[in-house]
Amino acid sequence: MSTLTFYGAAQRVTGSCYLIRSGQQQILLECGMLQGENNNKKGGKGKKSTNKEESAPPFPFSVSEIDAVIISHAHLDHSGMLPLLAKQGYNGPIYMTLQTQALLPTMHKDAAFLQQKDAEWENKRRARAGKRAIEPLYDMDDVERELALCEGMAYGTVSEILPGIRLCFREAGHILGSAIVELWIEDKGETRKLVFSGDLGNSQAPLMRDPAVITEADLLLLESTYGNRDHQPLDQTLSEFSAALDAAAQSGGNVLIPYFAVGRTQDLIYHLGQLYHSGQLKQNNIFIDSPMATSISEIYEQNTRLFNKDDPEFREIMTHDWQQWLPILRFTRSVEESMALNKIAGGAIIIAGSGMCHGGRIRHHLKYNLWRKNTHLIIVGFQARGTLGRLLVDGVKKVKILGSEIAVKAQVHTLGGFSAHAGQSQLLAWAGHMRKAMPRLYLVHGESESMLALQKRFVEEYNWDASIPTLGEVIHF
Ligand SMILES: [Zn+2]
Ligand SMILES: [Zn+2]
Repeated sequence: MSTLTFYGAAQRVTGSCYLIRSGQQQILLECGMLQGENNNKKGGKGKKSTNKEESAPPFPFSVSEIDAVIISHAHLDHSGMLPLLAKQGYNGPIYMTLQTQALLPTMHKDAAFLQQKDAEWENKRRARAGKRAIEPLYDMDDVERELALCEGMAYGTVSEILPGIRLCFREAGHILGSAIVELWIEDKGETRKLVFSGDLGNSQAPLMRDPAVITEADLLLLESTYGNRDHQPLDQTLSEFSAALDAAAQSGGNVLIPYFAVGRTQDLIYHLGQLYHSGQLKQNNIFIDSPMATSISEIYEQNTRLFNKDDPEFREIMTHDWQQWLPILRFTRSVEESMALNKIAGGAIIIAGSGMCHGGRIRHHLKYNLWRKNTHLIIVGFQARGTLGRLLVDGVKKVKILGSEIAVKAQVHTLGGFSAHAGQSQLLAWAGHMRKAMPRLYLVHGESESMLALQKRFVEEYNWDASIPTLGEVIHF
């Protein structure tokens, strides 16, 4: 008998983490960071989950007993605690796809850098209050330690990672390198198969392939980010996007787009390029304000063979680099270049991280632009509860950013169709390939409303009962 413990992403989206025990062996599936929750207690300063006092939970399991770690993809809510795991002494293998392995150094060094900055900021405040200084959750050395443990695997290869335990990564179509995890666990002569969906891609998104079809499993963990709704058709989203850009051009203001450096930015460059080439784009400056997005975009360029092969237009584009494809695109790397953007009163599109506005350069741009009536903020990704991005989507009139109270006068557009996640019907259809095997089904990586809605649809559609695990729940399989 093996067990699985839900240590994260139970009735919430972030902090993906599951522990599998089989015989004497322990495998950690995902080591994600909590994002967003509780981080607006101090007025939206954000990133509260990064410092020792508030979160840095010693892990709820014994790090020294873990034999292997598996990561579905590079997003921080799935991989962001790996450096802490290494810091706390883990020195076994960390399995992931080759592309995830290529993305992690950039992403985790950036995460360590931001945490260091946040700790410095917090410590200034603490010094003034006569409080003890805190340490960042992890630093560059911890990231180096972690990266040395990473083992990249090609999609579709089955490998025995521990005695009696085999692993295979299949395309999830969510971001570059994202995978569905197939795990065969042999225990006392019996083999059980666990399938973890990871984050499943939206088949409407232009760059990635569709999620691989899987038909067999004994236990299925299914993400449910958009378990309660379908995305609107991409065409509609594109025309809304274009209309928002037009409105911004007419009002003379800037467009701000909080981005997710991995995946979403590359999709956006693609869509903006299409508008540019068809003569519909009125703005003549697009800034990707991030050193990280540059590196990530380069890694994407090196992996175009994994992209959606059915789109001839896209194949054509990828014979160029991004900037050739979209000549009005500028990557701003230095802080000085970034700060210079604050002087632009209108006519620019500024794409900056983080995607949920809880950190990164977007906060500066929000501070300088949100109070202007002619600013247009375009939200293109999922906003977790508790993030600044979510507050803005929910229509708050005032926010606190970087110590200043800012009135929200900007127009906020929320565009659903650009999502990198499968919508409700896509989730049902993907899991439906396993309906004959009817594995035990657990919904993860979703907020409660989404999970309840999806649970209901599984019964209606397939007469299939899905469970919604609670944090810390242990199941036997
Ligand atoms: Zn993801
Ligand atoms: Zn995720």
